[in-house]
Amino acid sequence: MLDVVLAPGRDKALRRRHPWVMSGAVAAVRGEVAPGAWCRVLSSAGEVLGFGDYSPGSQIRVRLLSFGKDAPDPELVAARIADAVRRRAADPLVGETDALRLVNAEGDGLPGLLVDRYADVLVVRLASAGMAARGELVAASLRDATGAAAALARPDPTVARREALAQEPQLLWGAAPEGPVPVRERDRHFRVDVASGQKTGFYLDQRDARDLVARLARGRRVLDVFSYTGGFAVAAARGGASQVTLVDSSRPALDRAAEHLRTNAPDVPCALEKADAFAYLRGEPSGPGCDLLVIDPPPLARRRADLPRATRAYKDLLLHGLAHAAPGARVLFFACSHHVGPELFAKIVFGASLDARRPLRWLASLGAPTDHPVSVDHPEGRYLTGALLEIC
Ligand code: SAH
Repeated sequence: MLDVVLAPGRDKALRRRHPWVMSGAVAAVRGEVAPGAWCRVLSSAGEVLGFGDYSPGSQIRVRLLSFGKDAPDPELVAARIADAVRRRAADPLVGETDALRLVNAEGDGLPGLLVDRYADVLVVRLASAGMAARGELVAASLRDATGAAAALARPDPTVARREALAQEPQLLWGAAPEGPVPVRERDRHFRVDVASGQKTGFYLDQRDARDLVARLARGRRVLDVFSYTGGFAVAAARGGASQVTLVDSSRPALDRAAEHLRTNAPDVPCALEKADAFAYLRGEPSGPGCDLLVIDPPPLARRRADLPRATRAYKDLLLHGLAHAAPGARVLFFACSHHVGPELFAKIVFGASLDARRPLRWLASLGAPTDHPVSVDHPEGRYLTGALLEIC
């Protein structure tokens, strides 16, 4: 077994059950790690603190799977996968959908593993060297727990580089889906490109916000900025929007959005704008403005060092976005980066409102749905922050 010995005084986080050992906290590494086996983490005094997955090339050198001196049950990973799947099935808040997150890494006690379900197809992210090494065990456990017809392992390119993992998608079992996979969320139908779409194909983390948009949209003119394949626009159209305008820089995303609108709400007038959203929002607003505005940008602060620039960019989006909205309009605004926490996010909203001279009411805080749980021991797992605002 591989032993990872911490530097003196670097055991505090682990004792508070934080599941990461950063490279700077490691004093020595002894022995060898067998692929798929866990390592043991010891304090500088030799006390065994826990067991986890070792990543030689990553800043996050160990991801803890269990704490304390006893070696974990060999069935631990399989049992946690089964439990995660069971909890989703029993969760009334997930509601009617066949597209959901089944495993959310640290939030389900499975660091390095993300699994999304699209109808009968699973998309699996083996995002640490340890999880990748036990890919077969993960696949067998998922197959048992879900009975899904097929599963595709899709590496996240950034993570794959950092962890020195394979970059190519790999079929874990079943047949690769031919073309997009149809899914149904409430009364909304989408077709998801599991092999090439963004993330694992769809923004499952915005399901609750889509429900909210559906409830707010009746009779409203809706502007969906950073629309991707039109998740929010479709929710608005199904909810009775009088018209929807979508803005995204990706042609394939807009083409799929157009198809989604045609199939879900053929009678709602829609406009699709292929544009840089920053430039679009800075431009002259057309007509009277919208009365429901969604701004859901991609992560603008992937690293802490990006924060000053990202903070300005988020503020600009809301500031200029407000110019496109009529008095009394409602606005859903999001940041998806764990570096932008609720406090900074509130400051960004405040700054944009002040500079735009548009007072806002904060109606509700928004975030990811319950199939994206976050462990309270691991606040880094929370990344989506949002607000429902109302222009006074
Ligand atoms: N709201 C979407 C998810 C948005 S993801 C949903 O719920 O499904 C971010 C989207 O922003 C992607 O579709 C990406 O193509 C688009 N994008 C990234 N940079 C952009 C830019 N500068 N201007 C316009 N769109 C951009």
